[in-house]
Amino acid sequence: MKRNNTRSTKQRRAILKIIQETDVHPNADWIFQQAKERLDNICRSTIYRNLSVLLSEGKIIRLETDGGGEARFDGNVRPHAHLVCKECGEIVDLMDVDINVNVNSIKCKTDYSIRSVNLMIYGVCPKCQACNIKK
Ligand SMILES: [Zn+2]
Ligand SMILES: [Zn+2]
Repeated sequence: MKRNNTRSTKQRRAILKIIQETDVHPNADWIFQQAKERLDNICRSTIYRNLSVLLSEGKIIRLETDGGGEARFDGNVRPHAHLVCKECGEIVDLMDVDINVNVNSIKCKTDYSIRSVNLMIYGVCPKCQACNIKK
């Protein structure tokens, strides 16, 4: 039992590291491919289980994008907005861009206690714009 625990802690730490080391905001499959290279005998269900533990611990964020795409994961838990390319699905962090969401006025209007703000801005990235011109 103890050995098992150590192993799952090691797995969880490795999965968290994979997500924190990248800024591509990977989906579960990407994380699985990376984990396979670093961990022995890892299976997809282990990835999903660990993702939900990391989510509930608040160590990662789950991003739902428009259009019913797969959930993507973010190891950067500081509040920040995201820029999403509608064509290739690229997600870019907007850390130093001043985006004012007036949380106080939302609180006043709705009586909600606001826990987090997840702002997604959609557009077309420069790479996809260049492709569109060629077409
Ligand atoms: Zn794009
Ligand atoms: Zn992010």
